[in-house]
Amino acid sequence: MKRTAFTSIGAALLAGALALPAQAQQRPQIETKKVDGTDNVYIFRNGGHQSMFIVTKDGVIATDPVAYGRPAGGQQYLDEIKKVTDKPVKFLIYSHHHFDHIAGGKAFKTAGARVIAHKNATARLKVLNDPHTVLPDESIGNKKVISLGGTTLELHYLGLNHSDSTLVMRLPKEKIIFLVDTIPVGSFPGRGFIDIYPLETEDFIKKVIAMDWDRMIPGHPGAPDGRLGTKDDAKAVLTLMQEASAEMKKLGQDGKCWDTAEKEFKLPKYATLQGYEAGLGFVARRYCGLWGRGT
Ligand SMILES: [Zn+2]
Repeated sequence: MKRTAFTSIGAALLAGALALPAQAQQRPQIETKKVDGTDNVYIFRNGGHQSMFIVTKDGVIATDPVAYGRPAGGQQYLDEIKKVTDKPVKFLIYSHHHFDHIAGGKAFKTAGARVIAHKNATARLKVLNDPHTVLPDESIGNKKVISLGGTTLELHYLGLNHSDSTLVMRLPKEKIIFLVDTIPVGSFPGRGFIDIYPLETEDFIKKVIAMDWDRMIPGHPGAPDGRLGTKDDAKAVLTLMQEASAEMKKLGQDGKCWDTAEKEFKLPKYATLQGYEAGLGFVARRYCGLWGRGT
């Protein structure tokens, strides 16, 4: 293309495209925010990952270190907690077994925190023996309630979903849940679909919707502006999954998986949703596996 082909519209588009990374750069790599309307619930964010921690008079309950590929990330998380309280971190709870969320727990362990995860996470982590991921001290089944310094935190295992080890963490008094990866907030599902249990996830989301909560802290900042999720977000993701499944069901049962079906698979209703272009292929492949192969 010759330079003279640059129209004012083209220049405006270019300016817009350049503005986006600049905005992203303005956001600090690490950030800690108290959740509005709570006394003691915080979100620690490191890049595109985040986790919840709760400060009580008897100590801190922390979750996911979110330090994959960031060797100093666990200690930086602890340092952020120290800016809020001098109480010790008593617990570190893993949301599920994926390293991008739970790598980096060594600093917490060294500081005396008890590491808790679902038993399926522990079994998986033992096999993989990742050098950056601390093994849990305690492995739980379907439910555990942690009470510390006047705060109650429930840990629920509700079956297969984004992983086979996901815990839904609920603060009953605050009506807040921390749920990672299964219900993206304001964006199209992406790579996380690679090993999802698609049909079971629909049941899982229905169970989550049936729980008593108002706000959901996601493991990746919600769009736009890092917002928290609501039950409407959960319902929207459930609908999206049902529609994606139905779309691929036709293609898969027509014998079009993998290549033809993956080319034909489109969900135009969601085309303007953040992450659609990048995520569509992952969603297509997972449902092709389901309806074209039975897996
Ligand atoms: Zn995950």
